[in-house]
Amino acid sequence: MAHKTHVAIRLRGRENPVVVQYSTFCRRTRGGVWGSGCGFPILMCKTSTGKMLPVDPTPGLDGEYTVHWETCPKERHVPEAPQDG
Ligand SMILES: [Zn+2]
Repeated sequence: MAHKTHVAIRLRGRENPVVVQYSTFCRRTRGGVWGSGCGFPILMCKTSTGKMLPVDPTPGLDGEYTVHWETCPKERHVPEAPQDG
């Protein structure tokens, strides 16, 4: 499925939107070596500080996108502190 590039999207839990650069596949986990990714489709997006961020290509019902690191089955999930709300 083609996805528009150079459009700003909102990420869940992040204040600043990111801009879609291109669609690709998960090739590398965070800080990992090439080939350690899960191979799922992702969108590479650029943050307001110029960093590249992998994002899942399908938004949630609220229209917000999820950073792929939070769903990648190859990523080691670090437990986060429970949040109120
Ligand atoms: Zn992945």
